Formats: sequence, C-alpha cells, structure tokens
Amino acid sequence: MHNVVIIGSGPAGLTAALYTARANLSPILIDGSEPGGQLTLTTEVENYPGFPKGILGPQLIQDMRAQAERFGTTFRSGHITQVDLAKRPFQLILDGEDTIEAMTLIISTGASANLLGLPSETRLMGHGVSTCATCDGFFFRGKEIAVVGGGDSAVEEAMFLTKFATNVTLVHRRDALRASKILQDRAFKNEKVTFRWNSVVEEILGDDVVTGIRLRDVKTNETHDLPLAGVFVAIGHTPNTDLFKGQIDMDGNGYILTKPGSTATNIAGVFAAGDVQDSHYRQAVTAAGTGCMAALDAERFLESNP
Ligand code: NAP
Repeated sequence: MHNVVIIGSGPAGLTAALYTARANLSPILIDGSEPGGQLTLTTEVENYPGFPKGILGPQLIQDMRAQAERFGTTFRSGHITQVDLAKRPFQLILDGEDTIEAMTLIISTGASANLLGLPSETRLMGHGVSTCATCDGFFFRGKEIAVVGGGDSAVEEAMFLTKFATNVTLVHRRDALRASKILQDRAFKNEKVTFRWNSVVEEILGDDVVTGIRLRDVKTNETHDLPLAGVFVAIGHTPNTDLFKGQIDMDGNGYILTKPGSTATNIAGVFAAGDVQDSHYRQAVTAAGTGCMAALDAERFLESNP
C-alpha cells in the first residue's frame, strides 16, 4: 500500500514526485510507455525558467528525475494496464501482472502525437514518416522533407529540420499559421522553409520508404505530387486517458477535468497534472506547476484522510 502513486514521468509527474518525496510520502512513480514524455522528443528548450542559455529537453528530464530520486522517489518502469478507482485504496495493475495499491493517485500521463489517419502513414511510419524531428531529423541530411501542421510544433520542427534537410516544405490546411508570432517571423525569414498553404496530404507515396506526398489544394481541389524523402506530422496531441475512461470525468476531447484552482478530479484522492488535464497551455513549466499542485493536494488529502 502506497501513500502516493504517480503515473507518468514527464515534468508534471517528476515534479509531483519531487514534492511528495520531500514531504516524506515515499512516492512510487510509474514511467509509462514513453518515459520522460514529450520533452524527450524535443531539442532545445528555451522557455523553461532558470536556463538562460536553454537546455536540451532530455537533459531537463534527466535532471528532474535525479532530483526526485535524491529525495526518495521509487521509479518503476512499465505500464499501468488497468485501474480500479471505485474505492480506496485504488488498485492499479502494472504490465498485466503486479497489483499496486494507492491511497492517492496522481495522473500525469500526458498527451501523444496525433496522426493524419492515412493507411500509408501507418505503413511508412519509421520509413520516412515521423512525429519526432529530434529523433529522426538526422536521417534526412541533404534531403527534401515536409512538415504537416501550422502550430508552434510544426513551425519549430520545420526550422529545426533545416539543419539537416536541403528544403523543408511546411504543409498547412489554411492560409495562416496558428504558431506564435515570434516563431512565424523566424520561419518566414528562413530561406530553407517553403510554405504550401491551403493544402492537405492525401497520400504518402512510396512502397518501402517515402518517396513523396500527394497534396490537395482545399480551395481548387487540384492534386499535386511532391517528391521528397520524409514527412513529419506535427498536428497536435491527444491526452493519454483511455485507461481511465468511464471511471473519471473528462471533457469531450478526453482531457481529465479538474476542479478550478486545484488538481482534484471528481474522485476523492485522485489528482491530475500536466497535459493530461490541460488542452490550453501545454508547456513544460505549466505541467511542472500543476505537478507541484497535485503533490500538495495529495499531501493535504492524506492529512485529512489518514
Ligand atoms: P496545435 O497548436 O494544436 O496546432 C496543430 C496544428 O495542426 C494546427 O495548425 C492545425 O490546423 C493542424 N492540424 C490539426 N489537425 C490536422 C489535420 N488532421 N490535418 C492537417 N492539419 C491539422 O498543436 P501544437 O503545434 O502541437 O502545439 C500544442 C501546444 O504546445 C500549443 O499550445 C503550443 O503553443 C505549444 N507549443 C509551444 C512551443 C513553444 O512555445 N516553443 C513549441 C511547441 C508547442 P489549424 O491551425 O487549421 O487548426
């Protein structure tokens, strides 16, 4: 039986672990299927306070982890496959085998990359199709590639990929970017980034590896094949909440609902932090902030429910 079990090892989970460990609650943190979360898929993080020269995402996660470990967090690798939140202690099944009992639960399972939903995208994933510029950019040295999307992620990835590719085509379904102004300005000035407005990817071409994409102009309906070697899909994320469906209140997009000004969910003793409950800010620093809140909420809950 554990005081606090945290599911998810991004900045929200690791901050919750740090705070609950320093409160002598001996937290258990379950890594999940993407240890470290989205920061491990990113390069330079320039907007996490305290790092005036920036820090690499994976390094930031490694440091947060070491800090949580220093105060007594126990890390368990693996995946929670089943939860029963009907009564306390909550029951969690790890990798279909071990049962873990928790007096309080902090859910910080984050969000995962959305896909276009094309069969060719699934077939060629890892063979020219990617959702992670940091992981795969190097493979496209000297080649032409495309990035799909118009948000901060797409623009940031497009610029990062110009370090490797000869040209990056940013394919966006509208004629205006959603990305922040500063990123837009940088992208417009980057000579290696070309924009294809009002365009959607109809097909990713290639048998074994990507050889191009078929674009459709949404205004004219005309299609056009663009030869290239790689496609990076950067069209947002979906919260990782399937495990909790039917047991915990969520919004229409699957984000866990928390009480305003708190990380409390509709189940007493279950708290949610980070991107899993935040479809709006989705920043490492806000995830860490809500991780801290969840730890304090769990600590107070245990005090009043010994
Ligand atoms: P996002 O802001 O939701 O943008 C998703 C983009 O993909 C939008 O441009 C959207 O088009 C497009 N899109 C969605 N579904 C599509 C589909 N099926 N086919 C084609 N295009 C599609 O997601 P994000 O860029 O991942 O950013 C998520 C959050 O993280 C945001 O709050 C962002 O500010 C933040 N972020 C910040 C930074 C930074 O500050 N450095 C870096 C990365 C992310 P529409 O525009 O037409 O909807």
